[in-house]
Amino acid sequence: MLEIPSPVYSVIVPAYNEEEVINETYKRLTAVMTGMDEPYELIFVNDGSRDKTAEIIAGFCAQDASVRLINFTRNFGHMPAITAGMDNVRGQAVFIIDADLQDPPELFPEMAARWKEGYHVAYGKRTKRKGESWFKKITARIFYRFIRRLTTVDLPPDTGEFRLIDRKVCDAVARLPERSRYIRGLVSWVGFKQIAVEYVREERFAGTTKYPFRKMISFALDAITAFSYKPLKLATSLGFFLSLISFVYLLVIFFQWAFTDALVSGWASTIGAVLFTQGIVLMILGLMGEYIGRIYEEIKGRPAYIILEIVGQNEEIYRIPD
Ligand code: UDP
Ligand code: MG
Repeated sequence: MLEIPSPVYSVIVPAYNEEEVINETYKRLTAVMTGMDEPYELIFVNDGSRDKTAEIIAGFCAQDASVRLINFTRNFGHMPAITAGMDNVRGQAVFIIDADLQDPPELFPEMAARWKEGYHVAYGKRTKRKGESWFKKITARIFYRFIRRLTTVDLPPDTGEFRLIDRKVCDAVARLPERSRYIRGLVSWVGFKQIAVEYVREERFAGTTKYPFRKMISFALDAITAFSYKPLKLATSLGFFLSLISFVYLLVIFFQWAFTDALVSGWASTIGAVLFTQGIVLMILGLMGEYIGRIYEEIKGRPAYIILEIVGQNEEIYRIPD
């Protein structure tokens, strides 16, 4: 069998319909990585793009032995794409970066410096977000703070997937059996020595966001349900609260009946109370549905992604997940 020297660095780049930026991404990454003066590999994961993304990356593979391309059979999503990269890295330190250059690869040397100091994870923390709608900024801000309050895991706020992780961390996370993968959460969960590296999040280099509102919501729900069941406890507390109120109200009615001759009035208040409690019951049922649906997804045990092919040299060394 061929002996292939392991690279020091691996870079995982998930890409979905990124034909407009991918050339520039490759150029910027290659410039940074060659500057770091150690063997490296670039792993592009094409998440079922419908444009020319795969062809363009295959072109890089043809002329550059450090590039690999993992093609999915269809669009599985951002987290599965990163997972596929993590399942297939060979480097000792692994960078994760979006294809759209919102996160500057020029930060890699600083992250690598932290790694060489002995940190296992150097995660990018956004001090500013440029070129994103106020709606995205506000919802993101609320989300990061909300999920922190819900879980016992220390999830750093304003942090995406952009980071360096040691191979040990990568393997630990890759071994976690769950299919629903909120990767930044899992990386926090496994522990190790972690440190923040601050940066300004840029505008997308080209193209449009691949996270429309619908995907953002389901992403947020995935994250919350995977890391906290506190929302379920809401039912208990609300139930107690409502019972208490009803009890006090019944007492009031009893005293009215016994000691005054105030008439029983109020169709509106009855309907109001009924609708209110119905609303709450339905909301809690829905909440439970969110969890049950996810339990169902997990129990089916289907893989998070399916690989169509791997392009690039030495593809036989790659593990295909079972
Ligand atoms: N992406 C992916 N599969 C998807 C959606 C997105 O691989 O189904 C990739 C996308 O190509 C990009 C990264 O995930 O490299 C982040 O997506 P995007 O920049 O559109 O999200 P935003 O930065 O707007 O939150
Ligand atoms: Mg982006």
